[in-house]
Amino acid sequence: MIRIGQAGIPLSCKGRTNKDGLVYTKKILDLNAIEIQFVRGLYVMEDEEAQFIKDYAKENDVEIHVHAPYYTNLAGSGEELELSLEKILYSARPADKMGAKTVVVHPGFYGEHTQKKTSKKIIKSAKKLQGIFKKEKIKVKLGIETMGKQKVFGSLDEIIEICSNVKGVIPVIGLGHIHARTNGSLKKREDFEEVFAKLKPLRLKHYLLHLTGVLYENGNEYYHIPIKKGDMPLAPLIEIILDNNLNVTFISESPLLEHDAVYIRLQVEKAIMKRTGKEEADYRDLSEIL
Ligand SMILES: [Zn+2]
Repeated sequence: MIRIGQAGIPLSCKGRTNKDGLVYTKKILDLNAIEIQFVRGLYVMEDEEAQFIKDYAKENDVEIHVHAPYYTNLAGSGEELELSLEKILYSARPADKMGAKTVVVHPGFYGEHTQKKTSKKIIKSAKKLQGIFKKEKIKVKLGIETMGKQKVFGSLDEIIEICSNVKGVIPVIGLGHIHARTNGSLKKREDFEEVFAKLKPLRLKHYLLHLTGVLYENGNEYYHIPIKKGDMPLAPLIEIILDNNLNVTFISESPLLEHDAVYIRLQVEKAIMKRTGKEEADYRDLSEIL
């Protein structure tokens, strides 16, 4: 199954609430996923809005994910760590009420610690969060994202290490970030295959993939750019997904948001048409090529 959506309220959507964004994603864009952004401070969402989102998403088969505030440091200590956990919980609680699948979290910083020590601290914090989730009966998955800068914890290997050590935590595979951090390593089919090979021990039944073009230098991401302007191709990735019938959700986090989500959709449908020989395809229907 392939799901496609964007990170946040579509740019072309007039209404600026999450509710508006969700309805627009389904009705106008005809996409089936959205990642709601709680990226600044401690977000407050009324129960009524959360309930609407849950019901609407269920009725219309739209998958919901939530992104917690960008600035969190699970490798921190004292007040910084407390505030980070708080931000994540303030995202996870409404995410749960919305029936979201994942709450996406940025892992944190090495600071003065070694890579190993940082990893240990993040594992400890992630376990703590999982404990609170369990106690509060929060069913949302904690998703830890790969990061595009060297000084930030979050290479693919590092994220896999966290996930292997904390039951229930899943990787959020920011392909643009991986590409930037490895100074543009994702070009050919084998390069993407290596990503999935690394993830294999986690036995994921679903992959949450973030896609964007990215401007980078020396293994550091500068900023996100439209997918077409970047140098990471989509075609080999889509081929792997179709060949292996992977269950994936693409979230466009390019500056063009939904425009690039639709671009991803067109690329997927082009790949399906190539296989069926027909002139029409729907990214939700893979029955003819499996
Ligand atoms: Zn992120």
